[in-house]
Amino acid sequence: MGKYVGSVCRLCRREGEKLFLKGTRCNTHRCAFDRREYPPGQHGNSRRQKMSNYGLQLREKQKVKRIYGLYEKQFRLYFAKAVRKKGNAGTTLLQFLERRLDNVIFQLGFCTSRRAARQLVGHCYVYVNDQRVNIPSFLVKQDDEIKLTFKKKGEKTVTDNIEANKDRTVPEWLDVDHAHFKAKVKRLPEREDIGFPVNEQLIVELYSR
Ligand code: SF4
Repeated sequence: MGKYVGSVCRLCRREGEKLFLKGTRCNTHRCAFDRREYPPGQHGNSRRQKMSNYGLQLREKQKVKRIYGLYEKQFRLYFAKAVRKKGNAGTTLLQFLERRLDNVIFQLGFCTSRRAARQLVGHCYVYVNDQRVNIPSFLVKQDDEIKLTFKKKGEKTVTDNIEANKDRTVPEWLDVDHAHFKAKVKRLPEREDIGFPVNEQLIVELYSR
């Protein structure tokens, strides 16, 4: 599958809810979902169909996939990995996604969206336990120490992001020191730490068909 280069706002309209894919910019009056709360496309406003069970499962999976910015293949690999672990596969899947380094950088408030966080990681600004890590899918572990380093204007951008995110709460499983651009993973994320409404059981049912 190729890279999605279309408008991310179309994805929110497709899923029928705000996914906050543009980060802080989503809270302005320019949010496309607030203005057109119906699916994209020529017939988006006229088609009102009752959704089948399969449709509900598919939409839930697509929603989570889009929030974390993953392709189908990557998402399926996470699910396969979650199934091999003990416990509820849906919860384990969400925990894996939450532990991704790009998500962690976003949750720490260093970036305003997961997309931007992925770019920050890719550009080698992030160190985990004093080792440079430029892989957005890197999974953090308990007691990992995360640190940002900067070249040129990077520090100003991250400082501005921290200011823009000041009203957002950092999840309890992470400990952040914004002044020194450092953080620590206190513990692994639990189901209650997932910060958006999701019915992961629908995803399990979809992939178990
Ligand atoms: Fe979704 Fe609105 Fe953000 Fe666009 S601005 S990504 S529609 S929440």
